[in-house]
Amino acid sequence: MTTASTLPQVPTGLLIGGEWLPTTTKLPVTNPASLSVLAEIGDAGVDEGIAAVAAADSAFQSWSITPARQRAEILRRAWEIMTAEIETCARLIALENGKAWRDAMGESVYAAEFFRWFSEEACRIEGGFRYAPARDKTIITDHRPIGVAYLITPWNFPAAMATRKIAPALAAGCTTILKPASETPLTALWIGEVLRRAGAPEGVVNIITTSKTGEVSSAILADLRVATLSFTGSTYVGKVLLRQTADRVLRSSMELGGNAPFLVLEGADVDAAVAGAMIAKMRNGGAACTAANRFYVHESLADSFATKFQAALSALQVGPGTDSANDLGAMVSVRERDKILDLVEEARAEGVEITQTTEVPAQGAFIAPMIVRDVAHGSTLTRNEIFGPVAPIVTFTDQAEAIRMANDTEYGLISYVYAANTGIGIGVARQMESGMVAINRGLASDPAAPFGGMKESGLGREGGFAGIHEFLEMQYFAVDL
Ligand code: NAP
Repeated sequence: MTTASTLPQVPTGLLIGGEWLPTTTKLPVTNPASLSVLAEIGDAGVDEGIAAVAAADSAFQSWSITPARQRAEILRRAWEIMTAEIETCARLIALENGKAWRDAMGESVYAAEFFRWFSEEACRIEGGFRYAPARDKTIITDHRPIGVAYLITPWNFPAAMATRKIAPALAAGCTTILKPASETPLTALWIGEVLRRAGAPEGVVNIITTSKTGEVSSAILADLRVATLSFTGSTYVGKVLLRQTADRVLRSSMELGGNAPFLVLEGADVDAAVAGAMIAKMRNGGAACTAANRFYVHESLADSFATKFQAALSALQVGPGTDSANDLGAMVSVRERDKILDLVEEARAEGVEITQTTEVPAQGAFIAPMIVRDVAHGSTLTRNEIFGPVAPIVTFTDQAEAIRMANDTEYGLISYVYAANTGIGIGVARQMESGMVAINRGLASDPAAPFGGMKESGLGREGGFAGIHEFLEMQYFAVDL
């Protein structure tokens, strides 16, 4: 079935102070499947960035004291609107990001759920009350909204990365400035309009798009009215931003890159492991921070795992995400596609054999899924975040050695463990240096669960009960009662 491939109606200006403002210069947004221009959007300069800060700052005073129930109802309405118009959201994602229709729909539902989850969390912000051990005072703790939040999102989940930040920020009582990735701004702009329709007061949600990302972001971060930065993107850019936030000792939360290991231990169910691998590797065409990047398979299962995984990959149909018959869409751009192909070439130069059996359309940023057997741990494909449908397999004999190799990375976002039973899986999970571990399953993300990494994969958690705390400041009152 082909879903409509025309662009839904979407605002293209900057959302500042509740109004969509045009800019004199424009930025093109490209459909990576056809390489045609989808729309032209606003190109903010420093002045517009600072205007967004001013709008968020002036809205903060009343939003921060708006009853939680009222904030919750606005978020709930945003969930209802998104849910009613879920195909519009998916179409925007498929058009500007290129991902397969099933992934675009999956992301849209996941994204909307953050509005529902945090509409519930808005009313459950806790404080504390206890006596000091010496009984000389009472310790009261309170949480208050931190202030204006600057939110920066990547292109691989254009809807979910935006709602995973906006929803907890608004639930906490913060006002926001969102800067979506330049490749995929249309979905975020549509979400801005959804929030407006849901009743978010003017200035509570501001959205800027820009080609001068570094310059505009630096000016926003230097503005004393901004109280926190929430960033999702590469570890490289995360470090650049951490250096800038250090100058102001600015609160920041970082959701950064990953290099997820996928362990198939002796005794694991191979069919279940292949089914899990297809999700962990192929969801979003491999362009996920949570994507399984390296497969470590016990020697007793290595052949059957690789053969069955290869067969499943070869059955995938590659083509535009707007056609729901396709299993794998386009990469977000020719540049990103070529980065993956460069890694594959480097791996070939290291001597590994790479099998590619799937046909891909000649035009557009498409890439065939590939499996790479007999890879050495420490080689190019195991060291780099591939961010595409390429699956390197390392064979191991000793479980302790497999765990050591899995942890042998500067990243620590997620690990996947397939084991003979859950007990063994949890025992291994406890040894993984990652913020999340999926045991005998290929997907962990859930708006109700704490998402985040250890090591260079980030700081802080999004979603779950923890997510709202990224936007709250704790305050302690010492009281004689
Ligand atoms: P990226 O290049 O780091 O870009 C992410 C965002 O940062 C974009 O909005 C980008 O804007 C902006 N940016 C770039 N340079 C900046 C600067 N100097 N100052 C302020 N902002 C700047 O990452 P990406 O290629 O879009 O996304 C892929 C990466 O994100 C992968 O490493 C992936 O693992 C990671 N990721 C992590 C998570 C997680 O939750 N841990 C989730 C998804 C993705 P422009 O587009 O305008 O350049």
